[in-house]
Amino acid sequence: MPPALRRGMALVSAVALRSGFPHDIASQANAFTALATRPVGEWGPAPFAECAERAVILVDPGFGSPTADCLELASGGGEASVVEDIFHERLRTALAASGTEAPRLYREVRETIVRHPCMTKTEVLAFAYDVPELATDIPTFFRRLPASALHGRTLRLCGHCGAPLFPDRDRVSHPLGRCAVRECRMTFPDASVGSEHEVASPDDWRIADPSIMTYWVGPGLPEIWLYDALLASGADAELYPMCDAADVGIGGTAVGVDVKSYSSAAVIGHRFANGIGGLRAFRRRIVAIPDFWIRIDRDYLATAASVSGLREGIEFMSVSAVAREFAA
Ligand SMILES: [Zn+2]
Repeated sequence: MPPALRRGMALVSAVALRSGFPHDIASQANAFTALATRPVGEWGPAPFAECAERAVILVDPGFGSPTADCLELASGGGEASVVEDIFHERLRTALAASGTEAPRLYREVRETIVRHPCMTKTEVLAFAYDVPELATDIPTFFRRLPASALHGRTLRLCGHCGAPLFPDRDRVSHPLGRCAVRECRMTFPDASVGSEHEVASPDDWRIADPSIMTYWVGPGLPEIWLYDALLASGADAELYPMCDAADVGIGGTAVGVDVKSYSSAAVIGHRFANGIGGLRAFRRRIVAIPDFWIRIDRDYLATAASVSGLREGIEFMSVSAVAREFAA
């Protein structure tokens, strides 16, 4: 068990026992991580249920990775310490050597992974070959497809996001399996099969690393949706401008949009209260929240705005409202 998880469980046990919980809710790692895939206010002791961060979900159930909310809380809110993820750093280091080509390469790598998180081994090599500047890095963003992703010998890829549909224990409710990407499941509750493949060996297939799935692919779905919707309307939109100063830029540096998929409005508010990062490069600075979070918490935008203090002119809007306002 990772030491950080053991420490976290000990702290939760202590808080639970002190607030009069009849049993230790954090003594078993599997049971505890299952709880942590739900908002802390639903399962935690009273101090969790009453705090401003009660909507926080700590673990991404699809990949077992800490969520963006969890990393933000753990970092204590300092802008520099917010880990988008280690791959980001690795990619930035590789790009630093590419000079003026860096923004195009960054966009190409991130967009390809978000649109195709699961590929054959041969496709990953072709992808690396297409981006020779990062050829040695690209294969490290993927790992072998787990056998648990297969339905017998069949691999089903999600019709919405291209990730595998994993077999679900509840075959009656989910006969086709379930998409492992949280943002995809929350947007499209019904599974849809995009393609099916007979797999001789799981080693023939690759899936993006779990942290890339959690921090790029999941939040990437509303980013790509917004970008595609703006382009289709004829707007002058750009994905990941200036090596990710924002997720979507509109009209050069006129508007920068960061799409952020946090379960807790309070946590995202704190994050932007501590600094607005790359959005500073744009005249209008928008944080766009996927609509499903706002359907769960009607006060999401107001809470995020109030906690952030609307630092440096940032605005909080739903992804669909951004698409409507900036459609050409
Ligand atoms: Zn999906």
